[in-house]
Amino acid sequence: MKTETILLHGGYSFDPLTGAVSAPIYQSATFRHPALGESTGYDYSRAVNPTRSVLEQRLALAEHGKYGLAFSSGMGAISSLIKLFQPGDNIIVSADLYGGTYRLFNGYYSKYGFSFSWTDTSDFERIEKDFCPQTKAIFIETPSNPMMKVTDIRRCANFIHERGGFLIVDNTFLSPWLQNPLDLGADFVIHSGTKYLAGHHDTLSGFILHSNDEAEARLRDAQMSEGAALAPFDAWLTLRGLKTLALRMDKASRNAEVIAGWLRRHPAVEKVFWIGFPDHPQYELSCSQSRGAGGMVSFYMKDPGHIREILKKVSLIMFAESLGGTDSLITYPIIQTHSAIPEAMRLAAGVNDKLLRLSVGIEDPGDLIADLDQAFSQG
Ligand SMILES: *Cc1c(COP(=O)(O)O)cnc(C)c1O
Repeated sequence: MKTETILLHGGYSFDPLTGAVSAPIYQSATFRHPALGESTGYDYSRAVNPTRSVLEQRLALAEHGKYGLAFSSGMGAISSLIKLFQPGDNIIVSADLYGGTYRLFNGYYSKYGFSFSWTDTSDFERIEKDFCPQTKAIFIETPSNPMMKVTDIRRCANFIHERGGFLIVDNTFLSPWLQNPLDLGADFVIHSGTKYLAGHHDTLSGFILHSNDEAEARLRDAQMSEGAALAPFDAWLTLRGLKTLALRMDKASRNAEVIAGWLRRHPAVEKVFWIGFPDHPQYELSCSQSRGAGGMVSFYMKDPGHIREILKKVSLIMFAESLGGTDSLITYPIIQTHSAIPEAMRLAAGVNDKLLRLSVGIEDPGDLIADLDQAFSQG
């Protein structure tokens, strides 16, 4: 099956009891045992739930992995994945990434003896420089958040595999419709399903997708022991979102292209960061590992003093956190998604007071431009 079909039918066709075409929501915490020592395969929903299992299989298929694990949020997925490592291990992490991941690693796991090297992974020489004998993994976001830098997935995979470690890719920004890191050599793919996968700003979810038999048992145990597994109704909402992932991503990508071009021509805008521009410094790399540019566009305004007014004036576009859904959202990374990152590190990555990040939705692009146009006009 091809991805578009998998997103609709992977892991479930119909309910044998009733013929239900929509995967049933098994809103049950516990399951009756037929007899002592017997199980239906379902005992307790923290361990396994039938609705969640459908979603886990569907996304594993979509990311071309053997296994899928669904968590109550993207952060829950990342936190469970870290349980594969030991205190004393080092992980090289993209410096320009989701602020919540920085907070989790630096604020919590570093206290328990893990070390993290914050590296511009789009520059391969920096990875070689930061590698040390304790390095057990490279964790990347590509394109990065919010500066849209592209990291070479194949090259990172070869490098870390030669040294006995794993490559982890947070694929939230492009989704399996536009990029499949496991095919390029990554060992683990992470998703915040809250974003493109569920896609309607109505649920949180998170995923680990992979094909590592040995890690699977340990990850299942971490999911069950920590208890951040995805709830049945949230699993169903994510399944529903997945059905239109390909359509939504294609429309958002087309809209983003129009808006990125318009922003670039606007006199109040200093610079636009969008991986679909042929003069993006890593355009060729991007084309070699993904099938589209997606809906995320970041840009610098010339005058940072103008930003407060813009955020107040946008009306169709919501000034809100998050990304990847049907509705267009604008965020001010410096105070929202990236507030947990220390100032020096933020500024080095380019996240300054001029930067806005737009998650382009599936509205009419002309309406979105009209909204930006009135928000940019001063007075
Ligand atoms: C939102 C996000 C996360 C965290 O996911 P939640 O579902 O909010 O916990 C992780 N990585 C990226 C790239 C994100 O955008």
